Amino acid sequence: MDNQEKKEAFVHDEANILEVRNLKKYFPVKGALGVQKGAVKAVDDVSFNIKKGTTMGLVGESGCGKSTTGRTILRLLEKTDGEIYFEGQDVSSLSHKELRKLRTKMQIIFQDPYSSLSPRLPVGEIIGEGVREHKLVPKKELDQYITEIMHSCGLQPFHKDRYPHEFSGGQRQRICIARAIALNPDFIVCDEPVSALDVSIQAQVINLLKDLQKERNLTYLFISHDLSVVEHISDTIGVMYLGGLVEMGETDDIFNNPLHPYTKALFSAIPMPDPQVKSERIILEGSIPSPANPPSGCKFHTRCSECMEICKTEVPVGKDMGNGHMVRCHLYD
Ligand code: ADP
Ligand code: MG
Repeated sequence: MDNQEKKEAFVHDEANILEVRNLKKYFPVKGALGVQKGAVKAVDDVSFNIKKGTTMGLVGESGCGKSTTGRTILRLLEKTDGEIYFEGQDVSSLSHKELRKLRTKMQIIFQDPYSSLSPRLPVGEIIGEGVREHKLVPKKELDQYITEIMHSCGLQPFHKDRYPHEFSGGQRQRICIARAIALNPDFIVCDEPVSALDVSIQAQVINLLKDLQKERNLTYLFISHDLSVVEHISDTIGVMYLGGLVEMGETDDIFNNPLHPYTKALFSAIPMPDPQVKSERIILEGSIPSPANPPSGCKFHTRCSECMEICKTEVPVGKDMGNGHMVRCHLYD
């Protein structure tokens, strides 16, 4: 009943390709004899929109639920609760056949380009595999199609017959991108796509993603634990802590005016290229609490330098500070 009410209240905005409402993903924690004794609240009531043709950066420390959010949106994991609308369509109501079709529209690129590429297939086949399976291109045009895709991803088409191990890390990530692009998607979850690459290569891969976005009007959910990486590609940024979004807004607003003490702490950890700019390093106290047993009230209160009494007991609600800049913190009550 509750869900039904939420559904009726939802109004799709044509400008958005993705609309996520109150998404939850809990993993059961099994005790002795396989009896469930609790749950890891990996994603706990997350809501956001992504406009068509834009990039939303999702940042936060390791384990805060970024990958689980991305995978649940793509239905690689079944959600525990909440709604996911892709182009206004409720993703969870799709039949097996419809989901199969949607899978070409929504792609994912992972952090480790090596383990996600089959070592026994030449790259031409890796890139063409899904295209063939979904019959996206007539058989006799497939080879030419793969050539074009490789070209647009900065790969040499004459390397088609080589195997993944013959490529560098950056080139392997290009192969993963080519494989995703070949399916002609509208939306790609980029899950730490440059985190395993040398800094010098990171910018090249990010530039490739930006070029492809412009050419193909792609929408990205770009996941990274590193704020400085998402800056150059994101139109909007969401900051996650222990399964929840604590702050969200346009990239400029997040960078020029971070509001949440957690976001400020993440910023203070970025090394400044200009030594004149002195920024005080905010050290986060203690370690990240377990998402199986999160703190009461504001989940960040145990590590927050500005913690007040209310923070220990009351969950802060998200407040819009203007221009869609949302913060979830009692300092702004
Ligand atoms: P991030 O991508 O931000 O590093 P994840 O989404 O991978 O975080 O993980 C969020 C939390 O969920 C972590 O505590 C992680 O241990 C837990 N988790 C992720 N996948 C599973 C799973 N399949 N089973 C149980 N717990 C999981
Ligand atoms: Mg992750």
